[in-house]
Amino acid sequence: MKNRILAASKIHESALKKAKEFAEVDVKLDPSEDELVRIIGDYDAIMVRSKPTVTRRVIEAAKKLKVIGRAGVGLDNVDVDAARQRGVVVVNSPEASSISVAEHTFALILSLLRHIPKADRTMREGKWEKKLVGNELYGKRLGIIGFGRIGKEVALRAGAFGMTVVAHDPAMTSEDIREYNATLVDLGELLRTSDIVSLHVPALPSTRDLINAKTISLMKPTSFLINASRGHAIDEEALCAAIRDRRIAGAALDVYKKEPLENSPLLNLENVVLTPHLGANTDEAQINAGTVIVEKIRHILSK
Ligand code: NAD
Repeated sequence: MKNRILAASKIHESALKKAKEFAEVDVKLDPSEDELVRIIGDYDAIMVRSKPTVTRRVIEAAKKLKVIGRAGVGLDNVDVDAARQRGVVVVNSPEASSISVAEHTFALILSLLRHIPKADRTMREGKWEKKLVGNELYGKRLGIIGFGRIGKEVALRAGAFGMTVVAHDPAMTSEDIREYNATLVDLGELLRTSDIVSLHVPALPSTRDLINAKTISLMKPTSFLINASRGHAIDEEALCAAIRDRRIAGAALDVYKKEPLENSPLLNLENVVLTPHLGANTDEAQINAGTVIVEKIRHILSK
């Protein structure tokens, strides 16, 4: 009998097609926990994106579940401990979106430094704002905090803009980062000397509010802060105060402490560019994430 896979999030069509080569696939988008508990018993595998949450209750209701596939990076919406206890393998696709996020980082940087959102907005209001003066990236120093998969892709692209790159990552040695034309420095030096600081850290207890009033006070008043990693890493109140008081020049953010972002002072500040967690939202990243997950599920189910 064919294995059965439940796609409980919008998985890219090309990945679903691959899954159908070796399994029966049912698509049920964003089911509630109760609904999942009711139907999970029929499935050998489940695929999710950042929603729905595969809770302990769901995992304990499963009868033949062998694998949970998370198309994407974070495993915040899978109870990994419950899965481990029941012998259910959890797989994800952390590498699939690195290039999309790195490119989005530059979309944020260029939008902020060249005032693109404001230029577009004011043109639609019938204005011709030639007084919007920006900054070049050429010759500027980019400080990358977190030099993992995405941080490295950002560093490679910074080279093409003629930027110099410094990096801070406690897990990296100078040897590890040599090929990326980056110099390893401590956090203080990175913050004190960078023209643009870009965060690419995971959400760990040690990265919570990594950017706070104290660390911001080290940054240059002409510097910009970029975050396309996790909102967890920034004390948003401290950031708003710093931008309001012109202690830094601006910020561009894709991720927030609480998403969706609502009623935040960030929404009313000049020199801030905001996107709604779009870093991995490209056709290419979605195809990669879905395909990688389907391949991993195929491997587990064939054992
Ligand atoms: P990764 O695990 O490959 O790299 C993270 C790096 O951060 C590691 O090298 C680690 O050593 C380093 N690090 C950990 N603690 C640190 C600290 N205190 N200071 C400096 N460095 C520290 O992860 P990745 O795939 O490069 O992803 C980076 C971040 O981007 C993650 O938070 C991920 O969730 C996020 N992300 C966002 C989007 C989006 O849509 N915006 C999409 C994918 C990933």
